Formats: sequence, structure tokens, C-alpha cells
Amino acid sequence: MDEFELIRRYFSLAHATRSDVTLGIGDDAAVLDLAPGRELVVTVDSLVAGVHFPSDLESQAVGHRALAVNLSDLAAMGAEPAWALLALTLPAADDTWLAGFSRGFFSLAERHGVALVGGNLAHGPLNITVTLQGTLPKGEAITRRGAKTGDLVYVTGHPGDAAAGLQLLQAGNADSGNPCVQRFAYPEPRVAAGAALRGLASAAIDISDGLVADLGHVLAMSGVGARIEVERLPLSRRLLELHGLLQARELALGGGDDYELCFTVPAARVAELETLARTFDCLVTAIGRIESHPGLRLLDGQGREVKLAGHGYRHF
Ligand SMILES: [Mg+2]
Repeated sequence: MDEFELIRRYFSLAHATRSDVTLGIGDDAAVLDLAPGRELVVTVDSLVAGVHFPSDLESQAVGHRALAVNLSDLAAMGAEPAWALLALTLPAADDTWLAGFSRGFFSLAERHGVALVGGNLAHGPLNITVTLQGTLPKGEAITRRGAKTGDLVYVTGHPGDAAAGLQLLQAGNADSGNPCVQRFAYPEPRVAAGAALRGLASAAIDISDGLVADLGHVLAMSGVGARIEVERLPLSRRLLELHGLLQARELALGGGDDYELCFTVPAARVAELETLARTFDCLVTAIGRIESHPGLRLLDGQGREVKLAGHGYRHF
């Protein structure tokens, strides 16, 4: 099967069509119509087999994750996703693998109104690179720079579950239906929550490398510090059952792959946030506070500092 036949079979599936795609797949480049008053928000992420996911992960999950990690980056900016580009390097034209991949990719794209507007296929070690573009009203992006002393620190969902799921997969004894394995294989990017936080969150980031590592980026960019009260961490029952309290905390703080949002809100607007959060399809938990003293402090219920063994995923 040649490149064009593969593209026709697996990547021109019926999926979200958008009126702002003037010209999609099939020409030298796509032509997209950016509405007046809106800004383009762009992100790219590569997933390398054996580095970012186990090589034998089911292909439907690979397709889902390849788009989900990019959706999560746009969510952290408060942007609404619109147009995706997919560069896929494949060791072989395996029909079963490609069918699963495209099912995972397009079902998530459909749910978020994302149109695939271009791509590239090459032969080589398995690597998936997705460029995702979204939009938001001019000047309204939520960045990592806006956290201020006194702001509350929030996290969505149950951080730690995905890292526990990856450990199960790596140990080779994972039941694919295990909820932690599902959280790793099929992360749910917080797209609606991110967009709703525009104008309310003072800063935001998505958790890819671990809560401590990613919140650390917000603190550095904002020129502030923070305290996290570890007893407030929203540990899931399934994580506690697998690992017990101390190890569960380690995974929630230092494990990666959650694709939850960590964001800050001015103390004067907490009631507003709590009302808004009731409309979210995910849990939102206050876990700490921004302080002027630089660095991140982890405190137990008695206000004593606790140490973390790991410090998040390192890329090199
Ligand atoms: Mg990110």
C-alpha cells in the first residue's frame, strides 16, 4: 500500500468538519480562516515509542494520547482547539495498528471539534508528532506568568493515577481495564475547564512531567513561591488501594502523564471559582497557596515540611 492509499484509508475518515477550514487535506498546505478579534494558539508534541509510551501500548491509545497531550497544552492556555496536523513515522504499514490509531485519534478529535487539516507519512521508527492550533479572544491567553502572592493553587482530577497506570504497564501485568492504566492510556484533557478559566485563573499549566515539576515552572515564570499542603492532595481511592498513602502522595506530586490542569486564582475570586467549578466534568481541589518566598514547600497537616523522593519526569 502506498502513502496515498494509507492516507485515503485511515486519515480521511469522517471527522469534525469546520466552516473555518477554507482548504483542508489534499493541497500543498491548508488554508484556515481566523475570525476577527481572535488569536492563534499553537503547540506541538512528539510521542516516541519506548520513550513516551510502551511500544506495545494498544494503537487506539497511542492515537488518543497523541492528540490528548496537545489538547491539554491548549487547555492550559485557555484556548479552544480547532485544527490539527499529524506527522506519522511508521516502521510498517500494519492495517490493524493503523485502524486502531485512527479510531483513537479521530474519536477524540470529533469530541473536541478538531479538524485534521494536513499531515505527513514516513517510514522509520514509530514516532507521532501532532501540531495543534486553537484560538481565543485576543489578549486572553492564560500563561505561566500571572501567579501572585496570596493566590490559591488548584489542581483538576486525581494526579498520580496515570503514573501508577504506567508502572503497571511497565511491570507487564496490567489489566487494560484497570482504571489507573486507563488514565495513562486515555488521558482526558481538560479543554472545557481551561477555556472557562479565562479571565479568572491568574496562571495555569498542564501536568505532563509531574505536579511539583510543572507547578515549579509557574513559580519560576511568575517570580513567586508556593506551599502545597500534602493532606489536601485529591488522591483517588484506586491509587491509595494500589500504593498506600505515602507512595500515592509521591506519585501525585512527582509522577507525570496526568494531563490535569494546575492553576492559580486570586483569593478574592475563590467563591466565583467554586461556583464555576461545579459546572466542570472533573474534580477541582485547592491544594495550596502562592507565597512571595521563592521555591515550593510541601507541608504536612502539622505544618512540617516533607521531602519528595523524585522530582518529576526528566526528558534527558
Ligand atoms: Mg504543557
